[in-house]
Amino acid sequence: MKQTPHNQREATRHKFEHQVWLECAGCGHRVLFTHPLKACEKCGGQWLDASYDYDSVREQWPAVLSERPFDMWRYRELLPLRDDTNKVTMGEGGTPLLHATNLGLMLGAPHIYFKDERQGPTGSFKDRQAALAISVMKEHDMTEAVVASTGNVAISYSAYSALAGIKMWTFLTSLVPPEKMREVALYGSEVIKVTASYDQTKKVAADFAERKGIFLDRGIRSIAAREAMKTVAFEMAEQLPMLIGDGDTLWRAPDWYIQATSGGMGPVGVWKAYEEMVRLGLVDKMPKLACIQVAGCAPMVHSFNKGLDEAEPVLNPQTLVITIATGSPGPAYTFLSRVIREHGGAFEAVTDEEVFRAMHVMAKLDGVSMETAAATAFAGLFKLLNKGIIKRDEVVVVNCSGHTFPVEKHLLGDEWARTVDVPKREDAVEEGLLGSLEQLDGRVQSIVIIEDNPQATLLLRRILQTRGEYRIFEAHDGIAGLELVRRERPDLILLDLMMPGMDGFEVLDALKADENLSDVPVIVITAKELTIAERQRLSGRIDKLMQKGSFTDEELLTEILKRAA
Ligand SMILES: *Cc1c(COP(=O)(O)O)cnc(C)c1O
Ligand SMILES: [Zn+2]
Repeated sequence: MKQTPHNQREATRHKFEHQVWLECAGCGHRVLFTHPLKACEKCGGQWLDASYDYDSVREQWPAVLSERPFDMWRYRELLPLRDDTNKVTMGEGGTPLLHATNLGLMLGAPHIYFKDERQGPTGSFKDRQAALAISVMKEHDMTEAVVASTGNVAISYSAYSALAGIKMWTFLTSLVPPEKMREVALYGSEVIKVTASYDQTKKVAADFAERKGIFLDRGIRSIAAREAMKTVAFEMAEQLPMLIGDGDTLWRAPDWYIQATSGGMGPVGVWKAYEEMVRLGLVDKMPKLACIQVAGCAPMVHSFNKGLDEAEPVLNPQTLVITIATGSPGPAYTFLSRVIREHGGAFEAVTDEEVFRAMHVMAKLDGVSMETAAATAFAGLFKLLNKGIIKRDEVVVVNCSGHTFPVEKHLLGDEWARTVDVPKREDAVEEGLLGSLEQLDGRVQSIVIIEDNPQATLLLRRILQTRGEYRIFEAHDGIAGLELVRRERPDLILLDLMMPGMDGFEVLDALKADENLSDVPVIVITAKELTIAERQRLSGRIDKLMQKGSFTDEELLTEILKRAA
């Protein structure tokens, strides 16, 4: 345990670092992306776009690309992560682009392809978003975050944040199917089930983040999330020529990109990617976007048909396809409706029944089973072909966006979610939200970890974060630890013994000599075999001695709960 991982890390420190700018869509103001911004510093506009050094990318691509594996990180010159050492990855992206052969025969449309996003680590294209968003959180030293979700974002963010050691607070509308909620809980996230629509759930999550001072993932306004979705398009563009038998071309845009659309992250990101590809001279045209929604929650379709620039929200979604039931798509609609008005494309609605039929068709014809959200895109394809909006000889890529895992029902106890009730009456909502949030506050305990090994610290933090609301502070040596304890007056101290400089024994001496601190419980966690003399030195002065490697997470938690309750 006592090597110097910091030095090791320095030594293997990489290769890739670059600069990223944030550019305001409203006024064009440009700043270096060094920390997350909520709005433009000049005009207050909330739509900021990442921007890169395109001239150097034009020079480097495709030579560097030919040497990289086929995953989403191969496009990293156009992703907003500055330093590769912060990458949190599980093999996301690089999904196959498949030819829907039998479907094509049946429909008389020979160029239908689908991007098989079911093959991501958690089974949906949100894995791209999570991989990049969590990496960027890590790059900005965040240890906790709040996210609101209709299911798949929470699942994916939870998996990646488990890997990164970031605590995730997930706010899910209670309409989210239980199998999705169970998966979120399985990864160790806090699950807060809000008995309200998704849009109200987003509001509860935002209020919670604000009050607790925790970073909030801002959905369509999140730079990392949107930028990640570009990689679907880059990959498609590289995969298409071969499938079509277009040997000489390296990159190619399809005629159509079709996606089930909820918050609009996918199509917005895909559009930006094609704009960048045109700018880099990689493709010579833009695809048309088809955004498909379910009839019971189709704010984009209705607003577009009425010629509106801003989406009219659907307050009470009526659909079984909860994963895409965003009633209030906000700026994504404004963006997409402009694109589709100017460049062609379509907004289309399909009924739940049509969705289930499409699900059957795809499974039976081409052996592809998918969740209802993904089937929505296929139902939309059928409809647009029937209407003649999509021509049968056009090249179409459908995003087969996801499939839910069957998470074992009996695996978890029954306390993996907390419920927040939001009152139904419109005018009572404000008051109700605040009241609801109080329920979550509980009694927050603070814990100081004094440990010089960053890996061990991360693991302890992780164990604590899977259970309850601890405020966790870390110090990496004895002196800093003592200062931290004096400042924070924690409810509990986790103390390592072997540290350079002031070791754990000396920290303990200092704590016990200070009358303000001598009562704070101390759990000693050590990898060291203790001598009799050392045991005597600890005896009566600590609350528990735990040997690294010989305790389970559960035992440590039990000890902590006993002491910090
Ligand atoms: C999130 C999601 C969508 C909708 O994505 P947006 O681009 O944000 O509208 C569609 N299908 C699945 C499976 C999803 O998880
Ligand atoms: Zn601005």
